[in-house]
Amino acid sequence: MSLTLHGISVSTGIVIGHAHLLSHTTLEVAHYVMPGHLVHEELARFDAALEQTRQELAGLRSNRPRYAAAEFNAFIDLHLMILADEHINLASRNMIEQEHCNSEWALKMQMDMLVAEFEEFEDPYLRERKTDVVQVVERVLKTLTGQPDHLPITTQPNAKTILVAHDVSPSDLIQLKPHQFAAILTDLGSAISHTAILARSLSIPCVVGLHRARQSIHENDLLIVDGRRGLVIINPSEASLSEYGLLKTDWEDEQTKLKCLKTTSARTLDGVAVELHANIEFPDDMAEVHECGATGIGLFRSEFLFLNRDVLPDEEEQFVAYRTVAEGMGGLPVTIRTFDLGADKQANKTQRVASNPALGLRAIRLCLAEPKLFRTQLRALLRASHYGNVKILVPMLSSASEINQTLQSITHAKKSLDDDGIDYNHEIQIGGMIEVPAAALTLDVFIKSLDFLSIGTNDLIQYTLAIDRTDDEVAHLYDPLHPAILQLLSHVIGGANKAGIPVSVCGEMAGDAAYTRLLLGLGLRQFSMNPSQLPQVKRCIISTDLLKGAAPMKKILRTHDSLKIRELLDGLNAA
Ligand code: PEP
Ligand code: MG
Repeated sequence: MSLTLHGISVSTGIVIGHAHLLSHTTLEVAHYVMPGHLVHEELARFDAALEQTRQELAGLRSNRPRYAAAEFNAFIDLHLMILADEHINLASRNMIEQEHCNSEWALKMQMDMLVAEFEEFEDPYLRERKTDVVQVVERVLKTLTGQPDHLPITTQPNAKTILVAHDVSPSDLIQLKPHQFAAILTDLGSAISHTAILARSLSIPCVVGLHRARQSIHENDLLIVDGRRGLVIINPSEASLSEYGLLKTDWEDEQTKLKCLKTTSARTLDGVAVELHANIEFPDDMAEVHECGATGIGLFRSEFLFLNRDVLPDEEEQFVAYRTVAEGMGGLPVTIRTFDLGADKQANKTQRVASNPALGLRAIRLCLAEPKLFRTQLRALLRASHYGNVKILVPMLSSASEINQTLQSITHAKKSLDDDGIDYNHEIQIGGMIEVPAAALTLDVFIKSLDFLSIGTNDLIQYTLAIDRTDDEVAHLYDPLHPAILQLLSHVIGGANKAGIPVSVCGEMAGDAAYTRLLLGLGLRQFSMNPSQLPQVKRCIISTDLLKGAAPMKKILRTHDSLKIRELLDGLNAA
């Protein structure tokens, strides 16, 4: 009988294939007690397994696959750290010694305790790190139980195998690519897990958070995976198979057509030019930027360089990263955001406990509270500006005083470079993110003091509608079409255009083609998004007649009900 599971779409596409189940080692751990004279031997077995796992991870690190995402080494380092942590090795050893139990059991018990502790964290990013603990323990368990690398290698070039797992570690995920799995499904996972971040960089559909996939799917079951909607159909009917067969062909044709748009200029039917820029997290993301045909980097989220590490990147390391991107874009704009740490992105050294981190010491607030850290980054950014068209973007500004303090910090950083005789672009442009309603409502202050604006719709929606963007219990209330959001967008885009100051949108709205015509209608001419979304947005732009959309846009802006707005927007998109 056919069964449909719903999960979280991480990576899109349609695939029809057969399931291969990945064993979930931690669920199958035996427990036995041994005579005292064997404990010494058991400890040696435990130590050897840890050492072998350490070597495996170190090996992965030094032979980083060519296609690995930029985060790969950071993930491996994190896993090496967990492996070396005394809660894993020392506590398990003590348990073997005291209770004479087998290594697998001791390790599993320690893992369960740690996972329970991680689950107590309020911060979703920290809570999510429990999956890293489980993945490391699973790796050691596999070594202990003598299981070979659990990833089966498919040798057929066009394999249609869909991997089904309780969870997949990022390092395992990286190894899957050459084995040509068609899709990945997992029970666990969220849109912000490390695995999800990496899955997006692989070109295979991935659905996480399915909860019952490992339990409901049997080896070799026929599956339809609809990564666009986060759907999995187990043992589909003939009707579903033929329907999805057609959808899949359409999907593949569409992808091929989208690739052909790479060099097409983004211009509406009535001749209005639009800039399409890319959002990146690491310098290694540049290959995708070039592949999608972006004409600049609209948002380099520099804070990702600060995550998952004990020692924060110094000026030199940051300079090299920023210079690499600046040079890689060969004169095209590279907008680098000063670090937006805090809330769900905590760097070890800057971490503070806040009762409501999204409203706490985040982004520019943290920068101004940590002048040394900020100065280091500003010097690195300024130095990189000598090697390309670098612009500095400041997140979460909310008042004139914050703008002034920021500009002062930049002036001081410039002065220190002057004193050191180091080159930089003296005319470097400084922009501000509009992502707090206070900023949108006092737009004039921002226009007067800054060179450009970039609207962070992800946070603007979060803060305007009072909805935690990481809390899935209120996710249904997160509404980009809420009239309050449209009024703010209209005010900011219209105000900036009137004043002749460049304005872009770099939040998720910019990469969702469903909102492209709406944003164009509001006067937006610069979008920045994940490179994978750019071709679709470009396709929408080149089929848009702005004049035709003017009347429906007026109606949309006069409407106060978001359901009605959605209907009107559907009409605008269908025209
Ligand atoms: C935003 O808030 O829209 C944005 C682009 O920044 P981030 O998603 O990194 O908070
Ligand atoms: Mg933001």
